[in-house]
Amino acid sequence: MEKKYVFHFPREFVDKPVMSDMVRKHGLDFNILKAYVTPEEEGTLVLALRGDEDTVQNAITEVEKLGIRVQSISSDIRMIREKCTDCSVCVPLCPVKALSLDRKDFSVEFDPEKCIACGLCIKACPTRAMVLTI
Ligand code: SF4
Ligand code: SF4
Repeated sequence: MEKKYVFHFPREFVDKPVMSDMVRKHGLDFNILKAYVTPEEEGTLVLALRGDEDTVQNAITEVEKLGIRVQSISSDIRMIREKCTDCSVCVPLCPVKALSLDRKDFSVEFDPEKCIACGLCIKACPTRAMVLTI
């Protein structure tokens, strides 16, 4: 199976080889989809992990015990363009810049390739233009 996960590293783990140790120990294949450090200096890594389900789950349980927060991405976020009023409330909230303001016409654009399905824009959007597709 292949599944996507977001790993949130507290500051003290940012420069430690926790993930390479994890995939080596459990014999998992992986693909790094995104890696960035938030303004709060939390490290965030979006990985696609391939392996049998139990092995992947065991690996995740181990890193969670270290204090790393792991979020499974099993859903997609979609923008309902007709509902969006381009208010731009969501733009600064998006941690991966998947929502941006087009300076030419001040419309808000959504890039699904960048989105890690954190859900922050869904909670913030006053017109419910951002939705979750399971
Ligand atoms: S769910 Fe919304 S806020 Fe979160 S990454 Fe995707 S577009 Fe950005
Ligand atoms: S918060 Fe909602 S309405 Fe406002 S720009 Fe974002 S998606 Fe559009």
